[in-house]
Amino acid sequence: MNIQLDYNNIILQTISPSWLPDNIRASVLRLDLLHPEVSGNKWFKLRYNLEEAIAQGKTRILTFGGAFSNHIAATAAACRLAGIACTGVIRGERPAVLSHTLQEASAKGMDLHFISREAYRLKNETDWNALYPDAYVVPEGGNNALGAKGCEEICSLVHDTSFTHIACAVGTGTTLAGLINSASPQQEIQGYVVLKGAAYLEHEIQSLLHPATSGATLPHWQLLHQHHGGGYAKVSPALTAFITQFYEETQIPLDIVYTGKLLMGFRQDVLDGMYSKGSNILLIHTGGLQGNPPADAAT
Ligand SMILES: *Cc1c(COP(=O)(O)O)cnc(C)c1O
Repeated sequence: MNIQLDYNNIILQTISPSWLPDNIRASVLRLDLLHPEVSGNKWFKLRYNLEEAIAQGKTRILTFGGAFSNHIAATAAACRLAGIACTGVIRGERPAVLSHTLQEASAKGMDLHFISREAYRLKNETDWNALYPDAYVVPEGGNNALGAKGCEEICSLVHDTSFTHIACAVGTGTTLAGLINSASPQQEIQGYVVLKGAAYLEHEIQSLLHPATSGATLPHWQLLHQHHGGGYAKVSPALTAFITQFYEETQIPLDIVYTGKLLMGFRQDVLDGMYSKGSNILLIHTGGLQGNPPADAAT
């Protein structure tokens, strides 16, 4: 596969927002800077899936998402770079006006296939190859073993070995699984869950971890379920105010669905004393900025 993304675009940025005490250090790994269109964790989840599709002789990627899905945006952009056709199966009937995400995906050549919410719920039991014989199917969110494998590369981008904790937003948990599989055993991995009531996630993540039989010692990890801020994609005035203030203090833009909730949850945990003094936390900026409402829509 001949996509060359420049990992040198990714920087590790030390932050010192006003709420961070002097005896706790924090840095942000800026995966959002990887590529203007294929930014963030979605690239890592897609790369081995694209390779596998090509190895199997498939000529199309088929995947799933909602109207604002970062995964749909990244898949459309990555497939265009890889020169492979793609279909996005989109939840819900085709709206009169496409979302910004879907307009962009369509402009990059993705075929949009709208299905009802009921049909969407059955997507994993549907035989998509009956309709699209040439397609390699990537699950929603890039949530499979090859997705997690790609995310194992994220840790290797960081050469500083002094981090005591790695913190990341969790949707499907695929990215977190890759981090757990590749972090040092003495590091603590913290997953900030953005969905409400997602108790099934522990089990899903467990299923993506390297089997204990490999002899590898995995780091300790936990999911933090109290920072979803009302549920998936729910935005409160407190969240938008936090994102604005964080940008003013660090120049780092955050998205409203994932990284805003990660950082706001992290601030809460710091203020609550969850991170002991001397902690050095690596926060993963997984991207997602394409999903933010355009500035003029805020008014
Ligand atoms: C999709 C996404 C996540 C969630 O990743 P999972 O691997 O599904 O847990 C986190 N952050 C951003 C910006 C995303 O787009």
